Amino acid sequence: MNEVKSPKKPLLYYYFVAMLLVMLFNFIAMPWLAEHQIKEVDYNTFVTMTEQGEVGRVEIQEQSNRILFTSSDEKTVYKTAMVPDDGLVQRLLDAGVSTTGEEIEQTSTLVSILAWVLPIIIFVALGQYMSRKMMEKMGGGGNSMMFNMGKSNAKVYVKSAEGIKFDDVAGEDEAKENLTEVVNYLHDPSKYQEIGASMPKGILLVGPPGTGKTMLAKAVAGEANVPFFSMSGSEFVEMFVGMGASKVRDLFKQAKEKAPCIVFIDEIDAIGKKRDNQLSSNDEREQTLNQLLVEMDGFGSNEGVIVMAATNRADILDNALLRPGRFDRQVYVGLPDIRGREAILKIHAKDKQLAEDVDLNSIAKGTPGFAGADLENLMNEAALLAVRRRHRFINMEDVDEAILKVQMGPEKKSRKMSEKARRLTAYHESGHAVAAHYLPHVDPVHYITIIPRGMAGGFTLMRPQEDLENFKSQSEMFENIVMALGGRMAEKLFLDDISTGASGDIHQATSIARDMVTRYGMSDRLGPISFDS
Ligand code: ADP
Repeated sequence: MNEVKSPKKPLLYYYFVAMLLVMLFNFIAMPWLAEHQIKEVDYNTFVTMTEQGEVGRVEIQEQSNRILFTSSDEKTVYKTAMVPDDGLVQRLLDAGVSTTGEEIEQTSTLVSILAWVLPIIIFVALGQYMSRKMMEKMGGGGNSMMFNMGKSNAKVYVKSAEGIKFDDVAGEDEAKENLTEVVNYLHDPSKYQEIGASMPKGILLVGPPGTGKTMLAKAVAGEANVPFFSMSGSEFVEMFVGMGASKVRDLFKQAKEKAPCIVFIDEIDAIGKKRDNQLSSNDEREQTLNQLLVEMDGFGSNEGVIVMAATNRADILDNALLRPGRFDRQVYVGLPDIRGREAILKIHAKDKQLAEDVDLNSIAKGTPGFAGADLENLMNEAALLAVRRRHRFINMEDVDEAILKVQMGPEKKSRKMSEKARRLTAYHESGHAVAAHYLPHVDPVHYITIIPRGMAGGFTLMRPQEDLENFKSQSEMFENIVMALGGRMAEKLFLDDISTGASGDIHQATSIARDMVTRYGMSDRLGPISFDS
């Protein structure tokens, strides 16, 4: 069906055409067919047939000057021209032929059935076609590279098509270890059944965007050599109530047919958010979620369908999703540490021409907080830069520039800044830098510029010595506030005026301060109490 481009004409147009066709058929084709089914004979034949008792019924059509008659078994209709014949009526009476009966059906039964059935077929087919088109429209259409599986639009990855393995996912060793069990199960479910162990039906991959959750799910399918069905939560939420639920039903129907297999639902929070907010209840989403729960409860734990889902935040998911028998196993896929980053860089540097001076370990060191997707992006940006600068190999300069680009957005050299604005930015950024320099708990300054980049007019970049820590101390948080306000202070001290340029800093300082008081109980006055809610 791919060669037919989707029609752009309104659907009403097709209805109109179909109506016209039906009308043409009824008013032109039918009479025409009828005429052609009638055998013409001469009058003598008619007389002979009458005498021999081969005539069934006769209709005399005086206006059109002809006689219609049927054979005695009424299967064939004949016509003949009328000839002045006084003895006709007597002859017919003698032969016992009825002339009073109703009009002779000019069409055969087949044709008359067709006249009824054809319009119905056309309308049903058209209706089907239109509803399919509508579904396609709302499902966002299909990617031509994937199989488009009917209603659910679930893409079936055939194993050889992507063939992602655990080795392609770097870092994330714990997550991989956790998922290896699933792979083993898919390889040999009977071993688990025999001993009475059952696999969790649902596995929730939790972690920040770009850390490789989708990759891990694909890798499980790749390692286990099973089909991989994938759909995004947002694809389920449709315009019409009930559509999402039917997509879920359809997805699981396909999955069960292909079991053992993996069903992957990305961004499950799009359908699985907590349902506590009555005011903005969303029927469609709720129905979809319910259907998902029904489906997950509906198959046994050993049917070989394993549902994996990804989200950035497990805490906003509806509790019903996390109950036993549903997504009762959570696998955390976190930001990579320095070793993980180096390994990821190695993977994405494999097919790139690197100069001698490029040291992946030091890049890993300089990119704390980068997710796998950021690192992939970074290597690609570096390669693009190298091409633009006509380097034969990607050198460290390209990489450094690429890090800034990924972190802060592209440089905006062309944006003209007035002398005044440049002065202001210079003082502002120096304020941050000087503050950072004197604060013992703040990371050292790595880079400072007044060339605008992305959203920022200028910026001061700190680079941590070590990896981001899970814990921050009170003095670190306090110093971060001081540093954020350093820019504003410098403006005030040196220019004797303050500007809007500090809005981002003030926002940041405020949110750190609020967290310190309301979440972390760091206020002496209020004490260790959570005011989070
Ligand atoms: P998520 O689903 O967590 O948002 P993805 O799995 O879609 O992230 O990752 C996006 C891309 O980033 C991947 O296609 C891959 O190229 C790269 N990537 C992310 N994490 C890793 C990793 N741990 N190892 C290698 N590449 C990664």
